[in-house]
Amino acid sequence: MTSPSSTPRGTVLISGASITGPALAYWLHRAGFGVTVVEKASAPRGGGYPIDIRGTAIEVVRRMGILPRLRDAHVDTGRFTFLDADGGQIAALGADTVAGSMAGQDLEVRRGDLTAILYAAVRDDVELLFGDSVDTLDQSGNGVDVTFRSGTRRTFDLVLGADGIHSRTRELVLGPEEQFDRYLGYAVAVCTVPNTFGLSREVALWSTPGRSAALYATGDGNEVNAFLTFHQPERPLAALREPQARWDLVARTFAGAGWEVPGIVEAMRHAGDLFFDVVSQIRMPTWSNGRVALAGDAAYAPSFLTGQGSSLALVGAYMLADSLARHRGHDAAFAAYERGTREFVTMNQALVDNGGARLFPTTAEALEQRNAMLRGLAAMPATTPRPAHSALVLPELAPAP
Ligand SMILES: Cc1cc2nc3c(=O)[nH]c(=O)nc-3n(C[C@H](O)[C@H](O)[C@H](O)COP(=O)(O)OP(=O)(O)OC[C@H]3O[C@@H](n4cnc5c(N)ncnc54)[C@H](O)[C@@H]3O)c2cc1C
Repeated sequence: MTSPSSTPRGTVLISGASITGPALAYWLHRAGFGVTVVEKASAPRGGGYPIDIRGTAIEVVRRMGILPRLRDAHVDTGRFTFLDADGGQIAALGADTVAGSMAGQDLEVRRGDLTAILYAAVRDDVELLFGDSVDTLDQSGNGVDVTFRSGTRRTFDLVLGADGIHSRTRELVLGPEEQFDRYLGYAVAVCTVPNTFGLSREVALWSTPGRSAALYATGDGNEVNAFLTFHQPERPLAALREPQARWDLVARTFAGAGWEVPGIVEAMRHAGDLFFDVVSQIRMPTWSNGRVALAGDAAYAPSFLTGQGSSLALVGAYMLADSLARHRGHDAAFAAYERGTREFVTMNQALVDNGGARLFPTTAEALEQRNAMLRGLAAMPATTPRPAHSALVLPELAPAP
């Protein structure tokens, strides 16, 4: 067992090494904590769909010194083309206009590239345990006694859950996911498919009421990311549990679809990296319990409909680490983290209520309204960014108290 007092500021276990986890590890190490990160995957996950880093989150990565590397990895999607049921063009817009991004300032990178850059920033300074996960947490003593799946037992001063929307840490200390999950009425299936479409740094989005298929080419390469997003008034529970039911649901939903959709569905059947989930937000009255706190998707997943998940992850990690650096007791630190971050989170989660789901209309009437709006936008200059991206001014990282 490690001693809770073996480092000047104490020891922290972070569960999850995607975006929130390594960002937290970076700032907590800088603040003098002894940091261990446990990740259930056997290695950092590469590849993946493109994510955005915008507004306040740009300042976080600038302070981490990784902005130049992220600029190198920037996808720089040029065009976003909207297609009707037969594959005819409705409108073609600049990708920044669709995402509400600020051209030249906000970044779009493949999720795996961001994870790799964050991992490189911490791997020499913190303990990383891949291929393991937390089994039990016991807060009855002066620290948190942790049993890992591997059977190892250790004690840490604090445990931070950065383990995503289906957080096991949250379940262990704050209860079942259902009570915090706000289902947004869609399911999504994502994978990479061969780029037989001749797409390059662009997105093509086909829509009919309640169904959409997107091809997202992050470069000129041989593969593109395919997204099937579809309306499901009730959570598709069987599809979440069983691969065959999942596949049946996707095939049934997109049967008879036009454009390239049949080929996408067929390619998905054989994809090795199929990701399927419902589209939800996590909304919690509090993000901590005792010596355990949550950050990123585990605490406040905003859903991909907002395009703000990665930015909230980076900003939330910074704010949590800053609060722990600034306050001696974890109670005061966790309270300060929530005070400083909740409004920003709420504002960004509200993007789905204020039109964030407008790209995926569920009725013919809403689809026609969306298309009319797109045709109008195509005739206008680029938009200014939505203020929610930049609404939080970061404090300077606090020195030790
Ligand atoms: C299809 C899709 C499209 C998206 N598009 C965008 C976008 O365009 N823009 C954007 O900003 N965001 C987007 N997002 C959201 C974004 O991916 C997340 O908000 C972001 O990844 C959150 O980071 P995180 O580190 O908090 O959680 P995650 O990235 O979910 O990482 C959690 C990590 O914890 C690990 N883990 C899980 N359980 C355990 C356990 N028990 N023990 C140890 N490790 C564990 C996982 O393996 C993973 O590495 C999208 C998400 C999806 C699903």
